[in-house]
Amino acid sequence: MRIGQGFDTHKLVSGRRLVLGGEEIDYPQGLEGHSDADVVIHALIDALLGAAGLGDIGMHFPDSDPRYKDASSMEMLETIVLAIESLGFRIVNVDVTILAQEPKVGPFRAAIVGNLAAGMGVEPDLVNVKATTTEGLGFVGRREGIAASAVVLLEEGTPR
Ligand code: MG
Repeated sequence: MRIGQGFDTHKLVSGRRLVLGGEEIDYPQGLEGHSDADVVIHALIDALLGAAGLGDIGMHFPDSDPRYKDASSMEMLETIVLAIESLGFRIVNVDVTILAQEPKVGPFRAAIVGNLAAGMGVEPDLVNVKATTTEGLGFVGRREGIAASAVVLLEEGTPR
C-alpha cells in the first residue's frame, strides 16, 4: 500500500467559470488559473502522483506550456490515472476535502463524487468528498479563494 496527499489553492476572480470536481457551478466568480483551475482535481492529481512517487502536477502539466491553457483538469486526471495504472497501481480509495466559504458544496457533492469516480475509472463508493468552510477565517473565509486537499491510497501490483 502507498499513501499520497495533495493540496491546492486557486484565487476567486470575476469573469471565470467555477469548476469544482468536474462540476460547473453557477457562482458570480470562478477560479483563476492556467487550466480550468479545478482546485479539487488538482489536489487529487497531486495525491495520486504523491502515492505513486511521480512528483507533482506542475512536472506533468507545466503552466508554462500553452497546451495546458484552459485545459480540462478532468482530462489531466484521466492521463495521470492511466500512468499510475501502467505502473501496476490500483486505487484503493480517495478522500477529498473542499475548503470554501461559498458556494455551498452540498448540493453538488454527489455529482462531484460521480465525476471523480468516472475520471479515475473506479466505483463511486471508493471516492469520498467532504466540504467545510473556514468559519470566515483567512483567505477562504474572506471568499478570496477556494482550496482543496486530498488523500489517496494505492495498492501496488504488477506493472503492465
Ligand atoms: Mg492548481
